Amino acid sequence: MQDPNTKYPRPPFAPQPQSVPGLAREMNPKPDHGETSYKGSGRLAGLRALITGADSGIGRAVAIAFAREGADIVLNYLPSEEADAREVVALIEQAGRRAIALPGAINDEAFCNRLIEQTVEHLGGLDSLVLVAGHQQACESIADLTTAQLDETYKTNVYSMFWLCKAALPHMKPGATIINTSSIQAYQPSPTLLDYAGTKAAIAVFTKALAKQVVEKGIRVNAVAPGPFWTPLQPSGGQPEEKIPEFGSKSIFGRPGQPAELAGVYVLLASEESSYTTGEIYGVTGGNPLP
Ligand code: NAD
Ligand code: MG
Repeated sequence: MQDPNTKYPRPPFAPQPQSVPGLAREMNPKPDHGETSYKGSGRLAGLRALITGADSGIGRAVAIAFAREGADIVLNYLPSEEADAREVVALIEQAGRRAIALPGAINDEAFCNRLIEQTVEHLGGLDSLVLVAGHQQACESIADLTTAQLDETYKTNVYSMFWLCKAALPHMKPGATIINTSSIQAYQPSPTLLDYAGTKAAIAVFTKALAKQVVEKGIRVNAVAPGPFWTPLQPSGGQPEEKIPEFGSKSIFGRPGQPAELAGVYVLLASEESSYTTGEIYGVTGGNPLP
């Protein structure tokens, strides 16, 4: 057993600005995605999953855990993240599972449709659609928030979810799952995340409504709502630069979460063990409970 207070690095952290999208390999300290710790036990044997944002952060932790639980995986990420993605492909293959990399920007409907078609071709079907990719850029004032940024945040976080779910559902059989990624921001928005917080609230509501719509097909839809996690999203503009040294200090643990501390929830929501769970927003907030 380990004390959760002292298990992982605590603030202060070094300033470390990156351009968006950031890379996990550039972070100090390196995030823990479960590379050396996650142990599978066949909970997702034979599952076929598409994971967006699978190169880094939460998506990488989910990809490692799913592979070690027996899943074959299509990974989506942006082309500029290839170096991070290669590390994940190698880890999935070391787990003895298939890793198919399909990079591309999901803020485009035609690409989202192609991504689902190619996933089904490669894996022979789709059992779990795991949407982790997200865009977050802090902006101090509504006066400086541009329509271009609003479009990019909503297209990447909300429209892509609609396009990918719509394209995937006809391929999904009873028992299949969709797992979205919301945020504590949906409930307790930061003033600097006017656009982003709105997308995360939209994701939570979409999750609840779609769950009711597809229950008759035997498909479950849930979302995970993380609190502050140590990933490249944050030092690449997700927070004002001066907030990075103290990132996570407001959690009652006094530190940010590590992606490895979140992967087990995605595994649970994709597995048969959660067959009575749908339309749920599953908080992993570091002691700041959701309403
Ligand atoms: P991350 O930067 O490691 O992952 C985000 C990923 O989104 C990137 O790796 C990138 O591949 C993908 N992405 C961004 N724009 C894209 C586009 N146009 N097309 C395709 N892919 C794109 O950071 P993370 O923190 O692991 O983020 C994963 C999810 O977790 C996001 O949805 C984020 O909103 C959510 N989240 C993160 C935190 C946190 O504190 N880190 C808190 C709450 C929610
Ligand atoms: Mg990344």
